[in-house]
Amino acid sequence: ESIIVKSLAEKMSISAGEVIKKLMELGILATINQEIDADTATLVANDLGFQVDIKIEVDKETMLVQEQEDAPDTLLARPCVVTIMGHVDHGKTSLLDAIRKSNVIATEAGGITQHIGAYQVEHKGKKITFVDTPGHEAFTAMRARGAKITDIAILVVAADDGVMPQTIEAINHARAAEVPIIVAVNKIDKEDAQPEKVKRQLTEYNLVAEEWGGETIFVEVSAREKQNLNELLEMILLVAEIGEYKANPNRAARGTVIEAELDKGRGPVATVLVQNGTLKVGDFIIAGVAYGKVRAMMDHTGRRVKKAGPSMPVEVLGFSEVPPAGELFYAVEDEKLGKQVIGERQVKKREEDLKVTAPKVSLDDLFNQIQEGQVKELNIIIKADVQGSVEAVKQALQQISTEEVRVNAIHGGVGAVTETDIMLASASNAIIIGFNVRPDVNARKALEAEKVDIRLYRVIYDAIEDIKAAMSGLLEPEY
Ligand code: GDP
Repeated sequence: ESIIVKSLAEKMSISAGEVIKKLMELGILATINQEIDADTATLVANDLGFQVDIKIEVDKETMLVQEQEDAPDTLLARPCVVTIMGHVDHGKTSLLDAIRKSNVIATEAGGITQHIGAYQVEHKGKKITFVDTPGHEAFTAMRARGAKITDIAILVVAADDGVMPQTIEAINHARAAEVPIIVAVNKIDKEDAQPEKVKRQLTEYNLVAEEWGGETIFVEVSAREKQNLNELLEMILLVAEIGEYKANPNRAARGTVIEAELDKGRGPVATVLVQNGTLKVGDFIIAGVAYGKVRAMMDHTGRRVKKAGPSMPVEVLGFSEVPPAGELFYAVEDEKLGKQVIGERQVKKREEDLKVTAPKVSLDDLFNQIQEGQVKELNIIIKADVQGSVEAVKQALQQISTEEVRVNAIHGGVGAVTETDIMLASASNAIIIGFNVRPDVNARKALEAEKVDIRLYRVIYDAIEDIKAAMSGLLEPEY
């Protein structure tokens, strides 16, 4: 444990000069940006008349509040959290709306007028939480920040259109997140619907229907005609039962910000999903560098609630500023500690804005990471100008796995390297390999925030050789 002189001074609201002076008295010469160990910091703080909270509830490295493990007997069943994914125009929004309208528990307030990024429905006395993450990018961006919110992914495929590029992307994102997939074959009301064709196409991606000897649940639905929606809910509950999702409602809340905005009248408004514990009005909460006391909470129907337990999405008022979507939030019992964490996060954020961090996995130090046992699986995303190259690389890669490292092609596609690819790579510690393609504008922007190793090649052989070399520690460094 260590702390930078400047941060220590900020925490005590005194000048860094005073801290440096005190350190000198103790025989330590330090600069304002120097790190000093926890013992020294405690000594200085005590000397200056400050109490130091020894109770470490915050990971100094990541500045994340540390999770206290819940004893098994404190865990109770919680509703499952479901995300709908799929190709554009295949009916994600329509399906979400149709389910919401037919199953949401109406209140006297009478309104399903509210649109928040998540809602709960009840089916056969059991609750299901639906999270509306617009696009796979959001889904994966959340994972890149360390938030895993989804238990089950519903893959929507339009029966008239069949498997499309974003269908495949959705499959790969769900797989990378290790969540079970239920396929909803939508638009079966259409004359040119070919649900069997969808089933056949998906077998290529290892989603094999049960009646064909596989394990994937397929439900044929029509969002427009509200056909088979109950059956879909039934299947979700079935998968949820196997997952046995649990949480401890009797502890301070933790969860994820799903979306947030600045409301003219109400100030920062955040929709959060409680993932563990119970969030209550009056709780002190932190999310990134935003903090505040929960002033009021609303459920998805706009009704005020005093508390929200596991898997419940709520709108929260009271944040000091708008927290970014995907940020983890924590209710902190000790408000002083909470403010301390925020202070350190702000310092750290400023420091990080200044320095460029290295990607988590890169070809350049892959060998070292293998040797240190940090890497056992090398995840690779392949983008190319033609499908043939994607397939060729996939096959070649499968053959170069060694006993130490398994090489996985987690996603492959035709076209430029996109922002979604960057997010997926960041969330899955993957390297991106491109053939005759380049990162597009948004990808380049995303690269500034998410450090990911991208390698561009013209010849497949070169890529394979590079990866082989990196795995055996023979890669020539790139200059
Ligand atoms: P998203 O882009 O995946 O969210 O797709 P939308 O929900 O916006 O739907 C795209 C289009 O397909 C809209 O015009 C919908 O009205 C239509 N659509 C969605 N579901 C169905 C369905 O079950 N049957 C038919 N015939 N049309 C549908």
